[in-house]
Amino acid sequence: MATFRKITVLSLILLTAGLLVVVAGDVSSAAKPSVNKTLQNLQSGFEGESNAHNRYVAFAQKADQEGYGEVASLFRALARAEEIHMNNHAEVIRKMGAEPQATLAKFFTQSTQKNIESSANKFEFYEGDKIYPRFIVQARAEENTDAVRTFEYARAAELQHFKLLTAALKNLEHMRGKSRTYYVCPTCGATSEQQPIHEMCPICGKPADAYEKVN
Ligand SMILES: [Zn+2]
Repeated sequence: MATFRKITVLSLILLTAGLLVVVAGDVSSAAKPSVNKTLQNLQSGFEGESNAHNRYVAFAQKADQEGYGEVASLFRALARAEEIHMNNHAEVIRKMGAEPQATLAKFFTQSTQKNIESSANKFEFYEGDKIYPRFIVQARAEENTDAVRTFEYARAAELQHFKLLTAALKNLEHMRGKSRTYYVCPTCGATSEQQPIHEMCPICGKPADAYEKVN
């Protein structure tokens, strides 16, 4: 009986140790970054930016139809910025030996007010505050500096977009009539109501005189 108990205790100890080894093995493999994760994130970012570009082009047309000339200019500036992010992501994807791929989704064009609301809250804030920060952490873990840079540019610009859209929503009735000029950095997609007074783009540090005017 005593021997039986010893054997049982011994096998319990061995079983526990075995389980610990299995658990430890799992933890170490989970901590090791998967090589392809950042490539997947780049593709997902490329798809998101391609769709955003399409939506903003359509929303600009709708704003023009409704007589919100300044909002139409804002949407065209945002479309240009998303195009820059799309091209930046594509460049890194190609450098990693893959081809950029995007499925263009169907979307609804609503009233200009609703288009601004959904763009600000459903997309720009979510991407700038949640999606891109997650992509940046992963790219850093994989030491992919090109991916970190393109994600950083997009994250910072999407948060500018969120602020511009939120301001437009509050100021909507004063944005009727003629178009106006917005400024977009061709390197990082930074978007501004004024040409930056500093000589450098606040996001990428390139000379701000390269900013494109979008009307
Ligand atoms: Zn810039």
